[in-house]
Amino acid sequence: MLEIRFCPHCGVQLSSWIGPPESGWGEILVCNNNECVYYRNSQTDIRNKDEDNSLGCRYAEDPDNGYTAFNLLAWYK
Ligand SMILES: [Zn+2]
Repeated sequence: MLEIRFCPHCGVQLSSWIGPPESGWGEILVCNNNECVYYRNSQTDIRNKDEDNSLGCRYAEDPDNGYTAFNLLAWYK
């Protein structure tokens, strides 16, 4: 069982998500809040670099690595 964890940026409970097999991540925890400041700021950063890019970074933690925080690249919807 994974711990119940909350996003430090927006306070929403992180959801478990199984990474693509090629990523080697296994099960990770992700903030799926589209209003999360972390996610919204990441979109702004990326858009400034490349206007055609519709990717953003969601806040995520890796349970296999002591719940280390990392950026999960996600399509902007
Ligand atoms: Zn969040």
